[in-house]
Amino acid sequence: MARIVMKFGGTSMAGTERIRRVANIVRKQAAGGNEVAVVVSAMAGETDRLVNFCREANALYDPAEYDVVVASGEQVTSGLLALTLQSLGCKARSWLGWQLPVRTVEAHAKARVDSIDGEALAKSMAEGEIAVIPGFQGVSEDGRITTMGRGGSDTSAVAVAAAVKADRCDIYTDVDGVYTTDPRIVAKARKLKAVTYEEMLELASVGAKVLQTRSVGLAMKEGVRVQVLSSFVGDDAVPADELPGTMIVSEEEMDELVEKGEVERQHVTGIAHDKNEAKIILTRVPDKPGAVAHIFEPLAAASINVDMIIQNVGRDKGETDVTFTVPQADLARAQALLEDKREDIGFNRIITDSQIAKISVVGVGMKSHAGVAATMFKALADRGINIQAITTSEIKVSVMIDEDETELAVRVLHTAYGLDAADEAA
Ligand code: ADP
Ligand code: ASP
Ligand code: MG
Repeated sequence: MARIVMKFGGTSMAGTERIRRVANIVRKQAAGGNEVAVVVSAMAGETDRLVNFCREANALYDPAEYDVVVASGEQVTSGLLALTLQSLGCKARSWLGWQLPVRTVEAHAKARVDSIDGEALAKSMAEGEIAVIPGFQGVSEDGRITTMGRGGSDTSAVAVAAAVKADRCDIYTDVDGVYTTDPRIVAKARKLKAVTYEEMLELASVGAKVLQTRSVGLAMKEGVRVQVLSSFVGDDAVPADELPGTMIVSEEEMDELVEKGEVERQHVTGIAHDKNEAKIILTRVPDKPGAVAHIFEPLAAASINVDMIIQNVGRDKGETDVTFTVPQADLARAQALLEDKREDIGFNRIITDSQIAKISVVGVGMKSHAGVAATMFKALADRGINIQAITTSEIKVSVMIDEDETELAVRVLHTAYGLDAADEAA
C-alpha cells in the first residue's frame, strides 16, 4: 500500500465527461489499496476567463480581490470531482485551501506555500476517504484567499505530498511525460524516462510549462518523488505504478539509471522556449560606477524580475547602452518606473520590443562537456537566425531571438543536439 497524491491539470478537468475519466483513474488507484489525495486545476480556459473579468472590472485590479475571483475555478472542479467519485461509490470529500489550511506567504496572485497542516488530511486518507483539494489556492496570514501564480496547482500538489509524506506525487496532464522539448512544437521530440530535479528546475524556469518552476524547487527541497504522466488513457490502461511516465530523479538516481543502461546520457537533455519576455534598451546611459544600480534598484523594489542583461562597451563620450528583459506582463510598469527615474539614471531614450523569444538548452552533461554553446550558435547562424543576447549557467545556455523564429530555432537545435526521435518523420 502506498500513499499517493494525484494532480490533474486543466485539460484533464475540462467538463463533466473528462472529470468522470479522472474519477475512474482515481478510483482505480484507491481500489489498489492506496491512500489517495487528489489536487485539481480549474477547467482548461477557465482561469484565463476569470482573469479577463478582473481586467474588465478594473484595469488596475487589487491582487487580493483578483485572488477571490480566480481561485473560484478550482473550487468548482474540486466539488465536481468529489461528487463524481461519490457517484462511483467512493468515499470522497473536498478540502478548500482555507479548510486544510494551505498557509501562504508573500504577495497575492503569486503567493508561496508556507505550510500545510497534513495531520487532519492524513487521518481522513488513512480512513479510506479520498481527499479532493483545489490546486492554486491558499490562505494568507490574515485569513484572505490567495493564489500561487499561473500553473500553481502543480505546486499545491507537491506541497500536499510533502505535508502527508506521500510516497509519490503523480502529475497527470495532457502529454504522457516530459519531452526533450514541447511535443506540440517538435513532432520528433522524445519522451524522457527520467530527468533530474536540477534539469527540470532549469527547463521549467525557461518556459517548459509542463511543471510550474516552484513545484520542482519544492519537490527537490522536500524530497518528493514526482512523476509526470497522461490522464488521457483508456479505461483498460495499466495503473500509474506501471505507466511509463517521466520520473523526476536525483543526480545519484540518474547515474544509476545510466549505469544500468536504462537512460542514455546526452550533453543536452532538453530545449525550452519562452515568448513571455520583453526587451528594454536604455540608450546613452553614463558609463560610470553606480549607473546600472540606478536602473535595476527601482525594478527590484517593484518586484519586477530582470532576466537577461547586456551592457555594451562604452562609447567615446563615457556613455553606453544597457539592454535587458522583463516579463511582458510587467513591461508597462517597468517603463513607467524608468521614465520616473530618467534624471537619476541619465539615459537618453527607452526602446522596447515584445517581439522576442528566449530559447534555452539545458543539460547536466554541459558541466563536463565543452562546446555546447558553440553548437548552438553555429546551428542558429546556419539558418540565418540572429542572436540578440546570450546568458549561461552551469547547465543552461539561453539566447534571445526574434519571436517569429521561435519554432524554427527550437527545431533546428533539437536536430543539432541529436535529440530527434529516430523512427518518426517530421
Ligand atoms: P496542465 O493543464 O495539465 O497543468 P499544462 O498546459 O500546464 O498542463 O502543461 C502541459 C503542456 O506543457 C503540454 O501540453 C505541452 O505543450 C507543454 N510542454 C512544454 N514543454 C514541454 C516538455 N518539455 N515536455 C512536455 N510538455 C511540454
Ligand atoms: N488554474 C490555474 C492556471 O490556469 C492553476 C493551474 O492550472 O495550475 O494557472
Ligand atoms: Mg500546468
